Amino acid sequence: MSEFPTVFVIADSPEAFNELVPAAAALGAKTEAIYVGADEAAARRALALGAGRLHVSPARTGQIFEDHADTLAALVKGSGAALVLMRADKRGRAMAAKLGVKLGAAVVNDVSSIEEGVFGHMAYGGLAQAREKPGSPLVIATVAPGTFKAVEMESGDGAVEKLEFIEPKHPIRLRQSKARQASSADIGKAKRLVGVGRGFSKKEDISLAQKLADAIGAEIACSRPIAEGEQWLERERYIGVSGAMVKPDLYLAAGISGQVQHMVGVKDAKTIVVINKDKNAPIFRFADYGIVGDLYKILPALAKALG
Ligand SMILES: Cc1cc2nc3c(=O)[nH]c(=O)nc-3n(C[C@H](O)[C@H](O)[C@H](O)COP(=O)(O)OP(=O)(O)OC[C@H]3O[C@@H](n4cnc5c(N)ncnc54)[C@H](O)[C@@H]3O)c2cc1C
Repeated sequence: MSEFPTVFVIADSPEAFNELVPAAAALGAKTEAIYVGADEAAARRALALGAGRLHVSPARTGQIFEDHADTLAALVKGSGAALVLMRADKRGRAMAAKLGVKLGAAVVNDVSSIEEGVFGHMAYGGLAQAREKPGSPLVIATVAPGTFKAVEMESGDGAVEKLEFIEPKHPIRLRQSKARQASSADIGKAKRLVGVGRGFSKKEDISLAQKLADAIGAEIACSRPIAEGEQWLERERYIGVSGAMVKPDLYLAAGISGQVQHMVGVKDAKTIVVINKDKNAPIFRFADYGIVGDLYKILPALAKALG
């Protein structure tokens, strides 16, 4: 029996539907998708993935995702929906907060499981898992990427229902927008990952990790300081509570200390191999196999042995 009568999925990128629409269809008796953006053709995949209806609020020049909150709230209100799913990214969390206020709904962020009306989610930056049963008739949940199995789909057919835009009373003024640097990385899909941490002294040395990654068919991932502080790798490559949550078969971490904010992102890796010169580094507590030693010697030796 379905847990919820109607489940809405809201997204500002069509790819988000691949994971969220099948999950909504499994949880609810009826699924409806709402897309905010300009790529209506790609958003039609929601219909192929199991949504009964697709509503579109077209992108508007000078306005951002959150400016569509009144438009979306008007649709969800009175629809009988009991659950709204969104991605747990910056925009998703901001929209969830606005909708929560407008619809008087409970908001649960970073949800990692939904079972019998109980929402599991990370708490205290990954130090604990909380389980909550919200009391409100409508719950808005932002879902951590990788929580549900994605179904690969790029298009679909069917009618789209255009939403009439409701001007927000307090719009957010868009002053400037800059294209993000394109990333070749999709570490969420990789079966094997080699993680780069602050144990690397300079950007050029990442080639040592790349050589090992090439030898074993892995992608390069990293800790947050490598992407956000040093900016040696793209943001899409960093693992953890504020980065990507991944479930590879193998995670080989080199020069990473193993702080909880990082490790929570790889807690579902099947095998964790660690290289660290400090035998007391916390990451060894998570390791299936650990090598105490200098990554500058061990990485080339492993790449040679496995290449
Ligand atoms: C709110 C919040 C959110 C955060 N979110 C994230 C997140 O999502 N992801 C994330 O990664 N971090 C996150 N952080 C940061 C996190 O707390 C750590 O600071 C970070 O993960 C540490 O990165 P690191 O392990 O690469 O560096 P360090 O902690 O500096 O560790 C470097 C390690 O390399 C080892 N080492 C040094 N030289 C060598 C060598 N030659 N050979 C072998 N080993 C060597 C050292 O022994 C050490 O253990 C967050 C922090 C906060 C406060």
